[in-house]
Amino acid sequence: MAKKTIRDIQVKGKKVLIRVDFNVPLKNGEISDENRIVQALPTIEYILEQGGRAIVFSHLGRVKDESDKADNSLEVVAKRLSVLLNKKVNFVPVTRGKVLEDAVNQLQDGEILMFENTRFEDLKGKKESKNDPELGKYWASLGDVFVNDAFGTAHRDAASNVGIASNIKDCVAGFLLEKEINFIGGTLENPKRPFVAILGGAKVSDKIEVIKNLLKVADKVLIGGGMAYTFFKAQGYEIGNSLLEADKIDLAKELLELGKGKIVLGDDVITAKTFDPESEKNVRNITSIPADEMGMDIGPRTIALFETYIATAKTVIWNGPLGVFEFPRFAEGTRSIAQSITEIKDQATTIIGGGDSAAAVIQFGLAEGFTHISTGGGASLEYLEGKLLPGIECVDNK
Ligand code: ADP
Ligand code: MG
Repeated sequence: MAKKTIRDIQVKGKKVLIRVDFNVPLKNGEISDENRIVQALPTIEYILEQGGRAIVFSHLGRVKDESDKADNSLEVVAKRLSVLLNKKVNFVPVTRGKVLEDAVNQLQDGEILMFENTRFEDLKGKKESKNDPELGKYWASLGDVFVNDAFGTAHRDAASNVGIASNIKDCVAGFLLEKEINFIGGTLENPKRPFVAILGGAKVSDKIEVIKNLLKVADKVLIGGGMAYTFFKAQGYEIGNSLLEADKIDLAKELLELGKGKIVLGDDVITAKTFDPESEKNVRNITSIPADEMGMDIGPRTIALFETYIATAKTVIWNGPLGVFEFPRFAEGTRSIAQSITEIKDQATTIIGGGDSAAAVIQFGLAEGFTHISTGGGASLEYLEGKLLPGIECVDNK
């Protein structure tokens, strides 16, 4: 179902509530990765240019008791936003009350304020995270229209997304949320074929629903990473000390049966004796993994095999690194596959969903070569599972 976006409404002179995902990583009080702020700029800039009065808010980190407040204040983010927008951002250090209401009422067309971490409301009984009806209603009362641009929390039913949406007339998607809906939702609904899904990461158990859903829609599902070993075991191979989820072997057998002709596992791996960045690496045929070694990456033949499928693909969705990419020695599989996906950019839609997979590609400096890198970790995973996300469902249909 097509969703309304900010292009479908008038914002001039209106108080525009904008839910963004500014849940950025902080190290010693400094923003260590500002990607989420950068990604939200087009929406905010558009609203300001149109003469809207922007009221921006987000959650940040987890707030369990009073002592978490100091480390999770959005003030540092407001300062950074102000620099990136080249415009004064009035930071209001509360989440409700007269100070906030006055600041909202003093906003002029094209001006912006940001209020404090929505999760500060969790201190009084998880009001934000459990979508307390009073809170959503209160925040909705501060604005005239609601723009949801927070994909990273779209899988959560919170006061600051669903709560506001149910108490205001217009709820539309910002450009970032629209992009996620079009690329992930649109691709799953109507992919250009051949459609190749690539799945990796640590555990099968994290990805069962993703595998099942992608088996329904993709033409090929290439499996690597830690989760591949439970599949190898299910096929009867000895996997030494590789990552194994013994209680998922039967499930892996079922998935292999379900995905006959679609699932591709490759036939060689890179192993090491210890889980260590300096550990010596060996190339092993899948039929001969020594009992005292563990699989750390996909092997060269498997890389080449995966690349033959990627080369002719018109759609690629990738979730989960193919090896322990955090150790440079075992990053080759993930890097090579990332590289070969960038080579089909002109002919295909290429999407990454998943926090670590996105981090890997950014770390390799290959992010530009992808059509879309999802900004959600948990949200993109649930979207790939084929679930309806509350933060998207609450946006008005066209
Ligand atoms: P994403 O965040 O992209 O969804 P996951 O969280 O599922 O990905 O998995 C990422 C982790 O999987 C990485 O930390 C990586 O080191 C690990 N991993 C990949 N391959 C292996 C392997 N062969 N053995 C152990 N861990 C692995
Ligand atoms: Mg992860």
